Amino acid sequence: MGRGAGGALRGSLLEARVRSGVVRGPLFQRRVVPAVFGEPEYAEELVPAELCPARPHVIAWDAWRRMVAAAVREGVDPAPLQIHAGYRSVAFQAQIWEYRLAERRDARVREGLPPLAERDLERQQRKWTAKPGGSAHHTGFALDLALYHLGRTGSRRSPAYAWLVRNARAFGFYPYLPEAWHWEYNPPGVLAQLRALRAALREGRAPVELALAPDSIPEAAPRPRS
Ligand SMILES: [Zn+2]
Repeated sequence: MGRGAGGALRGSLLEARVRSGVVRGPLFQRRVVPAVFGEPEYAEELVPAELCPARPHVIAWDAWRRMVAAAVREGVDPAPLQIHAGYRSVAFQAQIWEYRLAERRDARVREGLPPLAERDLERQQRKWTAKPGGSAHHTGFALDLALYHLGRTGSRRSPAYAWLVRNARAFGFYPYLPEAWHWEYNPPGVLAQLRALRAALREGRAPVELALAPDSIPEAAPRPRS
């Protein structure tokens, strides 16, 4: 699935660019912005496929394991919390994007419709597919959980989802409100963790700590929309 590291998309790692604010009930979004986190720069930033085929970022994986262990201790079935999709490279997303655009062009030909301007074709496409460079999955910090298999309504009705709504933020995970299965590891301070990890990898040191310990995660608050 594309290169594991040394990605084409470089992150600014600027805390000020974190998007926070859309609120629904007890939930609020705090989005992982691809241009802030960037693609993993070192192969070691991604979990080996033998451990997890979805290859999330090691920081997000570390936090996810702590969260699932807590859910299990509270009697929650961990099956819907397994990781269905994690890292997706910009290069791989570009392949998907081109493939779907070609499908759209061919469908118009088959239906005897005149060709659409490329700009209009892309606008239709963006409703269904993230444009290469635009998906939080490029960073490895966005996880689609197996809740995905329960569908739009089933996922929101599951006990695992109810547990996430109450507890995910304490482990540093924030929702993407339109998709109940999509959660992003993005607590305050995560960019400092990422900078420290990359510095350790650059200098050949072993990273000391990956995710922040749950009791040391600062409370994030939604910012009022401007
Ligand atoms: Zn997703």
